Amino acid sequence: MPDDTITRADFDSLFTPNYAPAAALLDHGVGSRVWDTTGKDYIDLAAGIAVNTFGHASPELRAVLEDQAAKLWHVSNAYAHEPGIRLARELTSRTFAERVFLCNSGGEANEAALKLARRHAYDRGETERFEVIAFDKAFHGRTFFTVSVGGTVAYRTGFGPVPDGITHLPFNDMDAVGDAISERTAAVLVEPVQGEGGLIPADPAFLQRLRDLCNATGALLIFDEVQSGVGRTGHLYAYQGYGVVPDILTTAKGLGGGFPVAAMLTTDEIGSSFVVGTHGSTFGGNPLASAVAARVLQLVDDPAFLSEVRRKADLLRAGLETIGTETGAWSSVRGQGLWLGCVMTGEWEGRSGDLTTAGFEQGVMMLKAGPSVLRLAPALNIPDSDIAEGLERLRAAVARVAG
Ligand SMILES: *Cc1c(COP(=O)(O)O)cnc(C)c1O
Repeated sequence: MPDDTITRADFDSLFTPNYAPAAALLDHGVGSRVWDTTGKDYIDLAAGIAVNTFGHASPELRAVLEDQAAKLWHVSNAYAHEPGIRLARELTSRTFAERVFLCNSGGEANEAALKLARRHAYDRGETERFEVIAFDKAFHGRTFFTVSVGGTVAYRTGFGPVPDGITHLPFNDMDAVGDAISERTAAVLVEPVQGEGGLIPADPAFLQRLRDLCNATGALLIFDEVQSGVGRTGHLYAYQGYGVVPDILTTAKGLGGGFPVAAMLTTDEIGSSFVVGTHGSTFGGNPLASAVAARVLQLVDDPAFLSEVRRKADLLRAGLETIGTETGAWSSVRGQGLWLGCVMTGEWEGRSGDLTTAGFEQGVMMLKAGPSVLRLAPALNIPDSDIAEGLERLRAAVARVAG
């Protein structure tokens, strides 16, 4: 009989070595708890990198997925279907947008946004307008265009010549953008809150200045809300909290609550540049993905739900601040909503990875946002009791790393 036992070590021998996952095999989850194949349980304060909006095995999302799975999985974009149109309606009725392009990942949504911005300029006869302004530490995905626009040099090193016309500027520096933007700028791409870069919120005045500069020069303002969207900050989209409206917005991570789906949102006028044949995706917005995402948006975009997110965020933030004060592991907690970063300083600098590893051993799943920021992004419906238990396990992990 062939041996079909699966071990964690098999991961290291079978995959290209671009990931280094934790030392266990995860088996199943319910809400904000996950169990590994040995039966050990974890409090999930990572939510699949801000993806599992309603935690694991949400009864409401399962019902939608199972209903749709019994009807129609996939037809390609050569055919239209009700779930796709429903999702487009949910997205446009709740935001500034009038048009959507559906795809499968954040990188693809940003790729579409950047291509649309260039194509829109081209359509207006502005063939010299192709430059893109982006920011240091920004993260926009791993496709070749988006990784080139991203602000981490290491991520694009060794992949050959990058596309032309990309400028990186310091985040939150209004003067730098004022100097760099011109009639050659097709788009300014920015995260309203930098996620991977360390949970760094944009200054409201910075986003407003970007809006004004784009209006003055004819550049398009693109908000990458791949991580900040779908209730994460306590608003459906972060731009709604800032009161600055982009021309294009991208959304992905939390949109499908764990089912891969993403969208690029824009106006009638700009969206009209994606005429038949200019862009596409085989899987984008397929019936399974669309059905789930439409339900996620309905559930999240409810004032009572979003106010609960903000209340839970206050609870988590207060607990993190207490641990920081008591242990000295971090000096401040930043971020918005259920999306918080503990800024590690002094002798703790550079040790966020030690802490996520120790946390996993203590039974709590957490994320890094760079070497010195511990990132928490739990499910938006995490029970208060799991916040409390997660904080206790985190406290034990800090003691472990300190000792
Ligand atoms: C995760 C992320 C992306 C990339 O999304 P993928 O689904 O991994 O392609 C892009 N932008 C931001 C802000 C992200 O956090």
